[in-house]
Amino acid sequence: MKLAVIGTGLLGREIAIRLQDRRFAVSAWNRSPDKANALATIGIQPCATVGEAFAGSDAALLLLSDAAAIRAVLWPTDGSEQPALADHLLIQMGTIAPSESRALGRDVERAGGQYLEAPVLGSLPEARSGRLIVMAGGELGLYERCLPIFEALSEQPQRIGEVGQGAALKLAMNQLIGGLTATFAYSLGLVRDEGIDVEQFMGLLRQSALYAPTFDKKLDKYLSHEYGQANFPLKHLRKDIGLFRHVAEQSTMDTASLAALEGVFERAVEHGLGDLDYSALYEALVEGR
Ligand code: NAP
Repeated sequence: MKLAVIGTGLLGREIAIRLQDRRFAVSAWNRSPDKANALATIGIQPCATVGEAFAGSDAALLLLSDAAAIRAVLWPTDGSEQPALADHLLIQMGTIAPSESRALGRDVERAGGQYLEAPVLGSLPEARSGRLIVMAGGELGLYERCLPIFEALSEQPQRIGEVGQGAALKLAMNQLIGGLTATFAYSLGLVRDEGIDVEQFMGLLRQSALYAPTFDKKLDKYLSHEYGQANFPLKHLRKDIGLFRHVAEQSTMDTASLAALEGVFERAVEHGLGDLDYSALYEALVEGR
């Protein structure tokens, strides 16, 4: 099966490599060509245009930042060539709003193409080892056709429902990432301010029903204030909390706490933390950065 990966940023690069390892024939396009060209050494074919990547591929995987980036690539307004979508299958894997995904699906179909959404939970290590959680949305027949791709990326890919439902579940998951990160940062902040032994706090927390593994996974970063090379940058989690708030505003949910959290994310980005691991939220929430 021939696959085009459109967008070889942090996640797209790892997914392209994983699929190449699993014997798919992979071509790649990226706005900044160096990132796609760098993959040529391992047999992934870099393409000069999106249209070239689509041509001859059985499916194109979109791994772009957000819905605006996807639209800029599929329907360019900067004079670059408009890729032909007719008879092409597009699998949208980034984190976007359900309404954005439904609108993309409609527009791709109107252009004669086919559309499936397959956002993922997990980051670069999970992409490398095929342990992403794939939450697909779209027609069952299309999903089944794409199952070999999803099985290369995930131990248990799942079809959630129609287009939009996979995107919604992904946002539900990422709201938990933002919420758990914030709530743990507050508690750890108080523990440290009061001079309480952090290991004693963690020992008790681990025994309790309140514990989540992500607390230990990120603990070293909070303690050292070193957030290192991001797998999942803070700026993208900020986007996702904003998307969740937007979706929640269409419902009866009270969005006050989401808006407040989004404000903290915005301040973190303004203070230059956007490209760091999302756990750098601690610095904005606790350290006043
Ligand atoms: P990233 O490293 O920032 O990569 C973003 C990609 O989008 C790059 O290829 C970038 O091209 C491209 N792009 C942005 N704006 C564009 C535009 N206007 N036109 C064309 N291309 C554009 O992000 P990522 O971490 O790979 O994430 C990609 C998506 O997956 C996001 O929706 C993110 O929320 C989601 N996601 C990420 C992770 C993770 O662990 N990283 C996990 C789950 C889901 P350039 O290289 O030229 O900038």
